[in-house]
Amino acid sequence: MNRQSIFQSIAGLLLIGSTALALAAFGPTSHRNVIEKPSLRANPRRVEKTEAEWKKILTPDQFAVTRKQGTERPYSSPLASNHEHGTYRCICCHEPLFSSDTKFESGTGWPSFYTPLHKNVIKDLTDASHGMVRTEVQCAVCDAHLGHVFEDGPAPTGLRYCMNGVALEFIKK
Ligand SMILES: [Zn+2]
Repeated sequence: MNRQSIFQSIAGLLLIGSTALALAAFGPTSHRNVIEKPSLRANPRRVEKTEAEWKKILTPDQFAVTRKQGTERPYSSPLASNHEHGTYRCICCHEPLFSSDTKFESGTGWPSFYTPLHKNVIKDLTDASHGMVRTEVQCAVCDAHLGHVFEDGPAPTGLRYCMNGVALEFIKK
């Protein structure tokens, strides 16, 4: 083996080594299409039930939306046009999620808010179903599907939490 071929062998080994390191560091992440944001792990409350248990305590419409990622027909929920002061809670676990103070008229036929009550009561997940990339919003306590969040909302956040009214219960102040 002359000097040049030794050099080439070492260079080859270094290349393999750094590729392995890069893979270990960044890893293949493509298998995950759901991205959890770390803030939601701060929520200490947790409600978990089986599908059969949820079915017992929810109406068929509530079950289809919150546990099966359904969407209610626009303008079908009276909460879409509700202007009373109070708190909107998760229909499944009763966690307070939104305040009427942050509700706005979006014209979509779904209850719309520009921010949740607290950052850790909801979680945002990337939803690539139906040929669109949207951000799904779930209750952080019980994983109920609530709706989606879009970046075309009003100030101060610029966000539009587009919720299914059937996934919420309203507690008047
Ligand atoms: Zn919940």
